[in-house]
Amino acid sequence: MSSTRPQAMAHFDMAIPHAGASLKQLKEEGQKVVGFYCVFAPQELVVAAGATPVALCATKEEPIADGEKTLPRNFCPLIKSSYGFAVTDKCPFFLHSDLIIGETTCDGKKKMFELMANFKPTHVMNMPQGYQTAEDLQYWTASVEKLQRELETRLGVAITEEKLKAAIAELNAERVKIQELSNFMKADPVPLNGQDMLKVLWARNFVFDREEFALQIDELLEQIKEMAAKGEGAFPKGAKRVVVTGVPTGLGAEKVIRIIEECGAAVVYIENCSGMKQYVDLVDENKPPLAAVAEKYLNTPCSCMSPNPRRMERISQVVADYQADGVVDIVWQGCHTYNVESRVLREHLKQNSDVPFLHIETDYSQGDAEQIKTRVQAFLEMMR
Ligand code: SF4
Ligand code: SF4
Repeated sequence: MSSTRPQAMAHFDMAIPHAGASLKQLKEEGQKVVGFYCVFAPQELVVAAGATPVALCATKEEPIADGEKTLPRNFCPLIKSSYGFAVTDKCPFFLHSDLIIGETTCDGKKKMFELMANFKPTHVMNMPQGYQTAEDLQYWTASVEKLQRELETRLGVAITEEKLKAAIAELNAERVKIQELSNFMKADPVPLNGQDMLKVLWARNFVFDREEFALQIDELLEQIKEMAAKGEGAFPKGAKRVVVTGVPTGLGAEKVIRIIEECGAAVVYIENCSGMKQYVDLVDENKPPLAAVAEKYLNTPCSCMSPNPRRMERISQVVADYQADGVVDIVWQGCHTYNVESRVLREHLKQNSDVPFLHIETDYSQGDAEQIKTRVQAFLEMMR
């Protein structure tokens, strides 16, 4: 069977090429822009402040050399790329941002934000080291409140409870649509390849008209339903099914996902922060809005949290729900937290899911692509 690609993917092919010009136009119309790097940034507060949240560039190899002029070379490529883009003003989204939201997640990132604050308005949210206790939530809630005050002061607006509730409802509705799309990836044949799914999820950060994005997702869902009815998909029925987890792997840094799919397996779920991590949980609309926002974001299963049992539980669930034949854990060189957690995850899967597990430590270069391909091929051959 030949592979089928929904025509609606054309919207998402164009989302990022058009995003720089769209944001520039918004700025010229007087719109405020708030940039962020991390899934912990509570976007509802930015939307409730009437500003546009935008994800900042961090996934290309090209600015790493500029980042290394200031940062140690053994930092992870994501941090060096972020800083290289920022310090050279080569990221149009950074250029147009009125404020950057940072967080004290890993050591490298928090020190990067300290330097970034020297040349760009940067608000760093203090993070607790875990998410399991009432004290963690209390500490984080205070950080979220502080961000609210910072946005109100800097943007000259009031974030009312009403506006925050509306922003929560808007972003929850988006998450529900994305969950619906992801649920179709449980099918065999799988309707989208992992690279296209990543493109759709990535586009969420770069289509600034949220109603427009919702319509594009609706069109994609319609076409996927038609494909499912005809038994069409991106891969032949019975293709090996892989769950990808680990560090963020946004567009430009999707090397391993591409290699897995070039080797013939379907990436049916991307668990990391470029993938589904931020869309799995909703903000509870029945709780006081600021507390509910704080709770949702604190529950993000990031390796910077110690311990991080939610990630283990979630991956086991995903393996079962998506009938995965294997799990690939991607770790950027220099990322200690995901690297350590890889061993914890391997052991967890051995005891709970009995699926083959592959750990790949790499960077943004293509120099190791052939070596990774050989390892992925061997991994696919040993799958049940
Ligand atoms: S992995 Fe952790 S630090 Fe990195 S973007 Fe995700 S939540 Fe933020
Ligand atoms: S990949 Fe690891 S080291 Fe790099 S920014 Fe994320 S948590 Fe920090």
